[in-house]
Amino acid sequence: MNIEQFYPLFLQSEKATIDSRKVGKNDIFFAFSGENFNAATLAEQAVENGALAVIVEQQEFENKEKNIFFVHSTLEFLQQLAIYHRKQLQIPVIGLTGSNGKTTTKEIIHAVLSEKFNVQYTSGNLNNHIGVPLTLLSIKPEHEMAVIEMGANHQKEIALLSSISQPDFGYITNFGKAHLEGFGGYEGVIKGKSELYDYLKDHKKTIIVNENDPIQVEKTENYVPKITFGRENSDYQFELFSEQNFVGLKYKDQKAVSKLTGEYNFTNLCAAASLGLHFGIDFENIKNAIENYTPTNMRSQIVKKEGKTLVLDTYNANPSSMTASLHNFITFEGSKTIIIGDMLELGEESTVEHQNILKIAHDLGFNEIITVGKHFKAVNNSSKSFENTAELVEYLGLNKIKSENILLKASRGISLEKAIDFI
Ligand code: ATP
Ligand code: MG
Repeated sequence: MNIEQFYPLFLQSEKATIDSRKVGKNDIFFAFSGENFNAATLAEQAVENGALAVIVEQQEFENKEKNIFFVHSTLEFLQQLAIYHRKQLQIPVIGLTGSNGKTTTKEIIHAVLSEKFNVQYTSGNLNNHIGVPLTLLSIKPEHEMAVIEMGANHQKEIALLSSISQPDFGYITNFGKAHLEGFGGYEGVIKGKSELYDYLKDHKKTIIVNENDPIQVEKTENYVPKITFGRENSDYQFELFSEQNFVGLKYKDQKAVSKLTGEYNFTNLCAAASLGLHFGIDFENIKNAIENYTPTNMRSQIVKKEGKTLVLDTYNANPSSMTASLHNFITFEGSKTIIIGDMLELGEESTVEHQNILKIAHDLGFNEIITVGKHFKAVNNSSKSFENTAELVEYLGLNKIKSENILLKASRGISLEKAIDFI
């Protein structure tokens, strides 16, 4: 099957999916063959469920009458179809990457731009070599803009995702200490994330620059076109303020208070507001978008429980987001307990980074420090150092936390959110 031949069929489809359970009427099902995976049965099932077409990697399953088509690589076909579709689109595409804050920034940008435009955007965290093509394929004729999150944990991945999504605007949220293992240290992170800049520069596309970040400034020096914020002489200037631990953004004389906590979210808001202003959206509307955006996804979420303030940040953690989170949390009024879990995927630097975080936590002077996970356990010999969330839950069953404010932050793999009900 070739792309040009297939494209008209794609245009008639409802959606593209790789999940056989989600195949509905008029969908295109991309069957990836893996171990223990019966692509033949799934393909037939998809057709029964009303699929418009099915892509399979096994020649013997091809059945053109049923629109089951054979390709050499489902992944490659999916990516090539996405590229082909992308090339037909005449709308601005905004590409995002960075170590932390991609999803949050994507959601706020979506909220802001949706004040005026019909915007398609990455659903959830579908930001990899499969998620990005699927997001592109979900862009319909009625969409006027798209915001695409691109994630990576190795070199060349952002280059690939940029070549697929072909962004007209690009923003790197930050260069942080995340996925150090895969990237080959911090320098590797900078190089890997900067592949987005390389793409934008090669194609003379617009870079959105946080001029408060020296690496971003250095990497985009003398480059045009760009949209800047973060300094006095930037294109757009915002001031940070906070109201009851929520981050606020001041633009000229107007104020917008978000439902997010953490100073790092100020940067995320600035990026979204800058794009909004760039696309001619009044600050009045940007304010509306910012004030109404409610995180529900365990990312910088504040929850009140039995008179206590809980900060839930259990979606992910790495040294930069952990440090930012601790510095933010120390500013909360009243007594404070932190429950911090392991930061995974740090490779060789793991022990040192966990030690560092523990030291920062002690230096900031929280009332109580609880750690969860093997990496923290190795460097923390306090009685409040637990091997895993189950042990913590057991402890919480017998000991009530007394502090008025409680922060929970850890990598996804620690499942720290399971402790929430026991606090
Ligand atoms: P993932 O790699 O899982 O896709 P992400 O980059 O999409 O992560 P988010 O899910 O938006 O990031 O945020 C994860 C956490 O990162 C937040 O809860 C917060 O602690 C932290 N964070 C958010 N924005 C920033 C930022 N600009 N700088 C540093 N840390 C941030
Ligand atoms: Mg994300």
